[in-house]
Amino acid sequence: MALTQKQQEQAVAHLDQHFRDNRRCYVCGKNQWVIHPQLYELMKLPLGGADPERSLIPLLVVECADCGHTVSFNAKKAGLLSRGGIGG
Ligand SMILES: [Zn+2]
Repeated sequence: MALTQKQQEQAVAHLDQHFRDNRRCYVCGKNQWVIHPQLYELMKLPLGGADPERSLIPLLVVECADCGHTVSFNAKKAGLLSRGGIGG
């Protein structure tokens, strides 16, 4: 799912609010983060059989442009998904 312009602006606002004190990559020390232009999903491991609820965490992914280290934020908490679906 590609981020709309509005969602990209919301993502930047979320990072400015919550990822601000030490923005240096803790792997390489640079401060060159890139927001991936689409959202990802982290799926729960279905231990003990199928997972009928298909538990997923929607992720905003931010990557260090220098070393590739990635950090992720729950896209719902970042305000990128509304209850009824995409957008908001
Ligand atoms: Zn890095």
